[in-house]
Amino acid sequence: MPDFDVIIVGGGPAGSSAAIHLAAGGARVLLAERERFPRAKLCGEFISPECLGHFARLGVLAGMESAGGSQVSETVFYAPSGRALSVPSEWFGGARSAALGLSRAEMDARLLRRAREVGVCVLEESALAGVTVEGGRVRGVSLHVEGSRVREYRAAFTIDATGRGRAVARRAERELKGARETAKDESVGVGNETGARTRLVAFKAHLEGARGAEGACEIYFYPGGYGGLSPVEGGASNLCFFAGARDVRARGGDAARVMREVLMRNRRAAETLSNAEAKTRWLAVAVESFGRRDPAPAPGLFAAGDAAAFIDPFTGSGMLMALEGGELAADCVRRALDAARSHDARRSRENAHPTSQDPKADAYDSLAREYRAAYDERFGARLRLCGMLRRAAFAPSAFAEFAVLALGASARFRRGLARATRSGSSKAGSAGIPARIER
Ligand SMILES: Cc1cc2nc3c(=O)[nH]c(=O)nc-3n(C[C@H](O)[C@H](O)[C@H](O)COP(=O)(O)OP(=O)(O)OC[C@H]3O[C@@H](n4cnc5c(N)ncnc54)[C@H](O)[C@@H]3O)c2cc1C
Repeated sequence: MPDFDVIIVGGGPAGSSAAIHLAAGGARVLLAERERFPRAKLCGEFISPECLGHFARLGVLAGMESAGGSQVSETVFYAPSGRALSVPSEWFGGARSAALGLSRAEMDARLLRRAREVGVCVLEESALAGVTVEGGRVRGVSLHVEGSRVREYRAAFTIDATGRGRAVARRAERELKGARETAKDESVGVGNETGARTRLVAFKAHLEGARGAEGACEIYFYPGGYGGLSPVEGGASNLCFFAGARDVRARGGDAARVMREVLMRNRRAAETLSNAEAKTRWLAVAVESFGRRDPAPAPGLFAAGDAAAFIDPFTGSGMLMALEGGELAADCVRRALDAARSHDARRSRENAHPTSQDPKADAYDSLAREYRAAYDERFGARLRLCGMLRRAAFAPSAFAEFAVLALGASARFRRGLARATRSGSSKAGSAGIPARIER
């Protein structure tokens, strides 16, 4: 009998969502998280309205809504010249018409607490030490617990929810293929991670004294990057932005200087941030790639959230994809566990040995195929669309000016595009977008 039905590594929104859905359905779940919560997390902290429907299903909606966050009724995109276009939050769909501005420290801690309440065994300060691979499939993980001690845990299934670092998938791939680990750890300090391979660096801090419009998330485009200013709890604004690694290196990795000399080349940002001061320490992370990975990277292992695909942050839909992806992975795993249980029940009726709720080896391949197909159906269209939009986001300033001007011409087109960056199925992904821009 394995220790757990499912082991989930990573306690962000994808991991917590998967854990809560699975435990609520009766599965024995272990969730391991490297940090102790609450912890600050580099993110725009714009929680799009559709997330609130997920919070309701996860049993945390009332808590999230009373946590002191801000209502965000629109996102305003500013070209470098200051030319603007607005996307109302209600266009995204969902039960509420406004998005929520709430720190990740608060949001993630509430989700993790809920996981404990529904019976998940949550281990904080427990980083991945290794992946157990037997018979060509993942059978569990080992974790650093209580400082230096390493302990192994076994399960029928494992979910990698460690974010862009894909810690479990990389380990499993290395175990299975004997490949050398090349990717780096995700969380780094300012100035530490601006080496030649890194194209972009993202920064984030909570500011006081910023003068963004009330109830608005403001996105600023500037040469080599973009950034977002969004209200959060306590009257603060969260500023999160990208800059080219070369620009960051030239400024010695000094986040405040990069903000002044790179981001504030955007005319609107120069107005709103002229008196702003960081009231938290700056976080910085190297971003080497966007887009998709294999959602079923090894037999017995599923990936959810950023570990499966990193959607471009200007869409403000990464957390939505993490919550949705966690639910999708939970669904797939739950069906596999149910199938294994009924197989066992049948065998014990026939007086044969049960197989300990462990699917048969050949079932892993069809499960992986099923999950990849479900993943593509749910997320494929929006990931492809965002891949195209990304080119515009990082294009030279003249293109950003043109894009803001062109998209400003049609509210219907903007609405269709906004929906398509987060729509539920590949069909809906393109249905809402008119074939051409209307004048
Ligand atoms: C610059 C930037 C701005 C963004 N802004 C927004 C926004 O405004 N709105 C939005 O919706 N999305 C935004 N996103 C995207 C959003 O942050 C992610 O999509 C979301 O956090 C993904 O959730 P996750 O649970 O998959 O991963 P994460 O939130 O990254 O959680 C992974 C968890 O795994 C833990 N972990 C990692 N490695 C290990 C290990 N080895 N062992 C144990 N635990 C481990 C980490 O500590 C972490 O808690 C932004 C992203 C970036 C980079």
